[in-house]
Amino acid sequence: MVVHTDLNLLSVLQYAVEVLEVQHIIVCGHYDCGGVKAAMSNHNLGIINKWLRNIKDVHRFHRQEVDAIADEGARINRMVELNVQEQVMNLAKTSIIQKSWKHKNQPHIHGWVYDLHDGIVKSVFEMPAGTHIDPLYEFDNL
Ligand SMILES: [Zn+2]
Repeated sequence: MVVHTDLNLLSVLQYAVEVLEVQHIIVCGHYDCGGVKAAMSNHNLGIINKWLRNIKDVHRFHRQEVDAIADEGARINRMVELNVQEQVMNLAKTSIIQKSWKHKNQPHIHGWVYDLHDGIVKSVFEMPAGTHIDPLYEFDNL
């Protein structure tokens, strides 16, 4: 799932964490993703531009590493992994997750990437409950 400050998504997250008390959240991307490929191009794709812009932001955060990869397919696949990582971190930036980590020591957040060619799911980024994040994003009144 793509996580940004989307209100519908935050209400789903809140319900899952506070009411259902889920112990694990999985953010799963997939290699060879057309969305990531589109976000790395300069084509105007109309109504999905805003969604692709979030992926462009991930590219900007990791520009040096990503742009140093010569092969286009490998570059896209690394971006898929980094996008999953950023979405896991975006979850950890929410007060919903931080509050639950503090009071219930759950959920654990897993970042996975699925490879449609061999069916293998690879773990690329893990945030166990209670992981320390950049203090810039830590709430002090939960
Ligand atoms: Zn895709």
